[in-house]
Amino acid sequence: MDAKDLLKRAKEDRVQFVSLQFTDVTGAVKSVDLPVRNLEDALTDGVWFDGSSVEGFARIQESDMRLIPDPNTYAILPWSPEDRRRARVFCDIYTPEGKPFEGDPRGTLKRMLAKLAERGWTYNIGPEPEFFLFKGTNGRGVHPVPHDVGGYFDFSSFDEAVIVRTELMEALMTMGLEVEVGHHEVALGQHEIDFRYADALKAADNVLTLKYTVKAIAAQHGLIASFMPKPIFGINGSGMHCHQSLFDRQGNNLFFDPNDEMKLSSIGRSFIAGQLAHARALAALVAPTVNSYKRLVPGYEAPVYIGWAQINRSALIRIPRYTEGRDKSMRAELRFPDPSSNPYLAFTGMLAAALDGIDRGLTPPPPLNNVNLYHLEKEERQRLGVGELPGSLAEALRELEQDEVLKQALGPVTYEAFMRAKKEEWEEFRLRVTDYEIERYLETA
Ligand code: GLU
Ligand code: MG
Repeated sequence: MDAKDLLKRAKEDRVQFVSLQFTDVTGAVKSVDLPVRNLEDALTDGVWFDGSSVEGFARIQESDMRLIPDPNTYAILPWSPEDRRRARVFCDIYTPEGKPFEGDPRGTLKRMLAKLAERGWTYNIGPEPEFFLFKGTNGRGVHPVPHDVGGYFDFSSFDEAVIVRTELMEALMTMGLEVEVGHHEVALGQHEIDFRYADALKAADNVLTLKYTVKAIAAQHGLIASFMPKPIFGINGSGMHCHQSLFDRQGNNLFFDPNDEMKLSSIGRSFIAGQLAHARALAALVAPTVNSYKRLVPGYEAPVYIGWAQINRSALIRIPRYTEGRDKSMRAELRFPDPSSNPYLAFTGMLAAALDGIDRGLTPPPPLNNVNLYHLEKEERQRLGVGELPGSLAEALRELEQDEVLKQALGPVTYEAFMRAKKEEWEEFRLRVTDYEIERYLETA
């Protein structure tokens, strides 16, 4: 779709307003709204905005920046009322000199993908964002109440969550997402909606679309949708597993090798080895909040240890079993990303780590099939060469500081903005006195 098609579509759809969207470095969606009559100008000249008030864009001398809409990302927001129809378009950010702004997260991923395109390859990702629906705070401040009492794959015709989830899937499909499945997850009030894999840029756009659509539709039902990685202590948290593969120009899956016993090619193996080698630093990008590290603990189907396997949900990377004739679906599922990440930056880091593995011809250690990594003793893990993910955001950030491959992939502007925002986030947390400390020490100390 080009600018002309976009204007035509907006007219046909009777759109009244258009939200021009982009994200800050943390992944929060920002929007500049226009009445539709200004769309044509926006498409030719872009729209100026003050970058200095956006997280991660702050310290740039030149605060004037320009949004250039990407017509391919046009979608109607299905919850907007008919007489005030609103559409959205994702935008790229440019400097006043007309160059792509280096700190733009979407631009950062595009730069990385351009390098991949030089090899004639595409990076496909099928993300599986999980989330909770809550019925507000139950008058007890920060302790949310799960919305229903369902469990994994449960079905009940009275389940209000099923009604909401169906509506969610419908809304997402009208926005152009190819929804594959929606189901109840393991925890109370927890859900997952998966959509078909796409190239990394589209997949990242889709993650943002999914997040705000879920929040908007939930709000219409008086519910709060949360993508926080671990909202409730003691039960499963919410991940965003990413199924990944590389295709060549002819659409062949570079992960598939008919002669390998797992049907996994040597490119696939090096890809995995690269992600394992950079896992500790990559954590800062794919699990980038203080709360992310409350999820990455033993016992809740989230990974803790750095290994890969075919049949093992406690591994960091899982290779779903190959089904005869489905060469395209040979893939590597990375299990530690969570939906609090900025998908553009997460995918940039994931690809950079993988390509480093391919370029250095790394081979992964033997797969840990049928081993529950949660149950291994430390000595056993050491013997198998299985490392551990960072235990906190602070630890992950220290790892990222040491990782030249990931830093280079982000580029200095994005890297520094990210670090600044995340160190501040950690520091803010570190200074707080938590409920836990009051319970533990108030009377005993
Ligand atoms: N909720 C789990 C996680 O935090 C994953 C459950 C699943 O295997 O889908 O990663
Ligand atoms: Mg799941």
